Amino acid sequence: MLSTPPTFRSLATPIAHDAPRAFVFRGGELLVKEPDFALPDAAAIKALELPGTQVFPVGIYEKEYCFAAWVAKEAAAPPGHAFRSLRSLFGRYDEGLLSVAGRAFQVADWARNHRFCGACGKPMAPVTGERAMRCECGHVAYPRIAPAMMVLVKRGDAILLARNVVVAPGGRMSALAGFLEPGESVEDAIHREVHEEVGLFVKDLRYFASQSWPFPGSLMIAFTAEYSSGDIRCDPAEIAEARWFGPGDKLPELPPAQSISRALIEANLPARAVRASA
Ligand SMILES: [Zn+2]
Repeated sequence: MLSTPPTFRSLATPIAHDAPRAFVFRGGELLVKEPDFALPDAAAIKALELPGTQVFPVGIYEKEYCFAAWVAKEAAAPPGHAFRSLRSLFGRYDEGLLSVAGRAFQVADWARNHRFCGACGKPMAPVTGERAMRCECGHVAYPRIAPAMMVLVKRGDAILLARNVVVAPGGRMSALAGFLEPGESVEDAIHREVHEEVGLFVKDLRYFASQSWPFPGSLMIAFTAEYSSGDIRCDPAEIAEARWFGPGDKLPELPPAQSISRALIEANLPARAVRASA
């Protein structure tokens, strides 16, 4: 599961540095050296000629200053470098570095999307000492984090796994998840989403853990819940298949190891469940 490493400290103010760790994003892609996916060195960063308005502090990681920057979608990578998707770093970076890269992406993405005021359209400028952008009209924009609930529904020794419509038949199944609507508590969202997606009612919600998930700026808040009533009835717009997996059942393909959904499922696996070969 991704979590902030203990050797990381957030910074909203840039500091002087000789050889910072640079997280330069072109859309959702990170600039890395080829072929080892190392972060670019000072010479490569210099070659990009990044304007100061596109560079933002992220924090200190393992005693090194980290900054995030964004470049235009037409920008070319310096020789020996390439832009690679954040997802392609999974399995190549350790979870600490992956977590910092995900954080840097959210900072860069927010900064790029808040160059102009959403209220009046004028240019925004960073607020000194804060992770915020301010307009002369008074509007202030902070990074947007979208809370989403995740819930693993349990019924006796069985767990409910579902396959989203975007996943091919036979593909990955996971716990239910969905974004909160304005005005909802996490618990409200769980009851609503479970009923909307699979037609069930649940009770006894128990908090499991939360995880920042940078695709693009989600905070996944995971629970377990006990089945209360109802029959499975999938919302065809969202869920292709949902079913109970109990003791001895062969499990489907599960979400990737770094995700909170995988941790939630692993912590609640039915006894003697049989893992898929993948
Ligand atoms: Zn404004």
